[in-house]
Amino acid sequence: MAGKIPESFIQDLLARTDLVDLIDARIPLKRSGSNYVCRCPFHNEKTPSFSVNRQKQFYYCFGCGAHGSAIGFLMDYDRLTFPEAVEALADNLGLTVLRDEGGGAPTTGSLQPLYELQEQACRFYQQQLKSHPAARHAVEYLRHRGISGEIAQRFRIGYAPPGSRNLPSNWPLQTLQGCGLVGSRDRGGHHDWFRNRVVFPIRDRRGRIVGFGGRILGEGVPKYLNSPETAIFQKHREVYGLYELLQAIRKPEMIIVVEGYMDVIALAQYGITEAVATLGTATSTDQIGLLFRYTSTLVLCFDGDTAGQAAAWKALDAALPHLREGRHLRFLALPDGHDPDSLVREEGEAAFRERIQSAQMFSEYFFGHLSQGLALASIEGRSSLVKRARPAIQKLPEGIFREMIEQRLSELSGHHQPGEDDRPARRPGLGEQQRAEAGRPPSSLRTFLALLVQHPQLVEYIDSANLNRLAELQPHGDLIRQIVEFLNSHPHATVAGLVEAFRGTEAFAIIAKLAAWDTHVALDHCVGTFADHMKHLTVDRQREGRLQALIQRAQNGQLTNAERDELRYLTLGKDGPFHE
Ligand SMILES: [Zn+2]
Repeated sequence: MAGKIPESFIQDLLARTDLVDLIDARIPLKRSGSNYVCRCPFHNEKTPSFSVNRQKQFYYCFGCGAHGSAIGFLMDYDRLTFPEAVEALADNLGLTVLRDEGGGAPTTGSLQPLYELQEQACRFYQQQLKSHPAARHAVEYLRHRGISGEIAQRFRIGYAPPGSRNLPSNWPLQTLQGCGLVGSRDRGGHHDWFRNRVVFPIRDRRGRIVGFGGRILGEGVPKYLNSPETAIFQKHREVYGLYELLQAIRKPEMIIVVEGYMDVIALAQYGITEAVATLGTATSTDQIGLLFRYTSTLVLCFDGDTAGQAAAWKALDAALPHLREGRHLRFLALPDGHDPDSLVREEGEAAFRERIQSAQMFSEYFFGHLSQGLALASIEGRSSLVKRARPAIQKLPEGIFREMIEQRLSELSGHHQPGEDDRPARRPGLGEQQRAEAGRPPSSLRTFLALLVQHPQLVEYIDSANLNRLAELQPHGDLIRQIVEFLNSHPHATVAGLVEAFRGTEAFAIIAKLAAWDTHVALDHCVGTFADHMKHLTVDRQREGRLQALIQRAQNGQLTNAERDELRYLTLGKDGPFHE
């Protein structure tokens, strides 16, 4: 949808951002030699092994191996997507994200007035709740629900008065329409979208208001009304209350997914701040993916009636692509006639938490739901179960979790999937590979590449003849060429800039690892070591290649006199006799 962010803009951002300040604002850093250190935010530890290097603009954890640039840090720590991280960095610097306008998508610059007007509207509605004569119905409604002033303030609850136009007439109409705050009448004229409703601002992860939800006061339809979708509001991508939740708890152990705004607010009123709501639509795959960025456990909380259970199953289906080992999806069916709002008011926090604790696990709910109405004692029943379960299981990502669900299906049905036992053995995990690597001394190629990535200015020692030889190396010759070409065209690139230039390519992980890897080469010896490895990879390798070719020809009796001399020179040259 949005245009691509140009490479040069990202380089510029990284050059202007200081990673040390960026991290220090979140986790206080201490100076240690030429680095800055703190306790790692990505694993639990007592002594600091998280190290930030100002010159490289790169961080590395000696405990868990986490590493990256400012963009990577925001993605992992603030759990932003790549474009969001770029936007956040640009915001810090007071810049507007530039996009290549291929698809004619709006830039952040043109969206800014929408965010600003939504904020103004929110303040306007909050003010109306306090001062409008008709607001007493709204206040009564909230009081009746047990909502305190403090909670109303935290969720910035407001009131849209009755009447067709209350929003200030001097606000620009086009921006009001862009925000979905006014709609058009059939016969011309404009009216406020929200009238005589309690309004709940919907905030994105950065706290910006992207839309509103409104509940009618008294009788009227619809009972709940959301802002229409706009350039800044897509219902399936937002969840209500996530910003407020993360303000209250940075790392929630679980997130409870409910159906309504008032459920979220009532739960918060009773001290259960871990709830979010979908926006009147079925729970989407995007929403589940978003929530799993902040927690490993989601509890889906739906009405116990048929409609509620259908919604829960739909949510399960949307969640399947995101489920894997370490992620938990649980199901809580509410007693008949209750929603979380009414239930927590009746039972209180402790009892509600108990219900959450006893919520059904995924496997239990999944097979329970699928087995409904099946006689599993019969072959017919068991084969129906397999038939029902297969399409859903196929949506699970490959991995241990999926294998265990498949295994459970086999147990329940007594049916083994064909080919289940003759799959190729699993490849060793990353950890095992790394351990195996740790035993070997680093190759010349690896040290060469790491030095180049960590000290981009070394690129000036690579002339075109050497570059041509390096580019032929297997593996990574092509990668060397790409790195050199990038550094030649970006002479001031930092390590982080270089790494980010490769984001989204196959080489990204390799380069990020090289940037973080400790070469054990002292700064004073960088140039010398780099030159030695380059010679080894170019001249020496070429010599070796030529030698092999000559030996081959000698074995076939094809040597010319000149070649015989060359072979003698190569094998008895200043490096001494050649040994295989
Ligand atoms: Zn760590």
